[in-house]
Amino acid sequence: MTIDLHRLALATIDAAADELDLDGWVRALLHQPERSIAVQIPYLGDDGEIRVVPGYRVAHSTARGPAKGGTRFHPGVTGEEVAGLATLMSVKTAVVDLPLGGGKGGVTVDPKQLSETELESLTRSYTRAIAGTIGPHIDVPAPDVNTGQRHMDWMADEYSRVVGAPSPAVVTGKSIAAGGSLGRDTATAAGCRTVILASARRMGLPSDARVVVQGFGNAGANLARMLAADGMRVVGVSDSRGGVHDPAGLDVNAVARTKAEHGSVTAHPGEVVTPEGLLGLDCDILVPAALEGAIDAEAAETVQARLVAEAANGPCTAEADVVLSDRGIAVVPDVLASAGGVTVSCFEWQQNLHGERWSAAEVSRQLEQRMCGALEDLWQAAEQRGLPLRTAATVLGVQRIAEAVGARAHARTSALVS
Ligand code: NAD
Repeated sequence: MTIDLHRLALATIDAAADELDLDGWVRALLHQPERSIAVQIPYLGDDGEIRVVPGYRVAHSTARGPAKGGTRFHPGVTGEEVAGLATLMSVKTAVVDLPLGGGKGGVTVDPKQLSETELESLTRSYTRAIAGTIGPHIDVPAPDVNTGQRHMDWMADEYSRVVGAPSPAVVTGKSIAAGGSLGRDTATAAGCRTVILASARRMGLPSDARVVVQGFGNAGANLARMLAADGMRVVGVSDSRGGVHDPAGLDVNAVARTKAEHGSVTAHPGEVVTPEGLLGLDCDILVPAALEGAIDAEAAETVQARLVAEAANGPCTAEADVVLSDRGIAVVPDVLASAGGVTVSCFEWQQNLHGERWSAAEVSRQLEQRMCGALEDLWQAAEQRGLPLRTAATVLGVQRIAEAVGARAHARTSALVS
């Protein structure tokens, strides 16, 4: 399964390389991570015993800037999986045109079995083990599955101790007190909102377009709130227990209160729908914001929306993608629609490097500008090449990385002969 992810990432790169007719040596560079480290991580258990688990950090590409990508704590983590995720991060940062490359890290551990003190010992030990390969100008980790603010605060502190100087820019996703950015917690939703509004305008959808959101967590609930405030009608939302539907539009804040009180959106007044039923509701815009693989070919056949915006990572299977494309439904791919988080991570890194603190309004302004620019580039690339948005996104990302690789190789060759 994990090997598949790396293979999938390479197949994606290869397809884009074919479209771009890239030289063999550039393909070879894109196939191989620039730097990859496997480490042993000893940490102290609460029983006084020392335990050792494996960990990884991979910088796939730094051609466009320091590697950037999350840190995953999960029992299934392997070096192959981390390499695949790092490769996909290179494409993601390039599609948004951030001055960053792609990286990823992970530790093979079940964090749910660890106490707070064990987690801190593990995170600090992992940071010491990879300290020689990360750094504000080299490779900048962030949170991912099962890691968050407190892990990033520990990593920044431990790295600063190792190098003997305060270095908040070494990781992003920190708490505000430790140098985190305002707007990070709602960044994914805010970035997706910008992409949806701009795409809807482009496609001529009404300003009160009907929206269905699958998943009512950090990304989905914040996005539903934002789109409702923009004047769109959120006609359906769901969580793991099912969905609620109101063709006249739901009061999203009231749904959030219901979920907080009763544990599920299904307790809210309205027609209760099954998770599958939600995907086929009559609407203009469908936002999968729950799990990967949530929309398969069968579900894709039922989709009524004209626009699908992938707030989640990998919510449409490859087969579903073909069905949606054949049915003329536009899909703004995850690589852009879910990129608000990494974009504000980039802003956090920039603020830390320059000792700045941007206001929430400034973060929001820059995020909107960045996402609109990236979306415009994507639509143009898709139209020029006659490709669906997802393929065009990979082509655009790989093209930007290849250009940076080519320019740097040329500079090095010139230096050798002059
Ligand atoms: P979350 O855990 O806060 O929320 C997930 C939601 O999905 C929950 O409401 C859960 O009940 C719901 N859900 C689970 N199974 C479901 C099902 N079968 N049908 C309908 N709903 C279901 O997670 P999140 O942070 O909102 O992330 C959601 C997706 O967005 C993930 O794919 C994640 O990788 C992606 N994403 C999140 C961020 C971020 O910053 N939060 C950034 C980039 C991508």
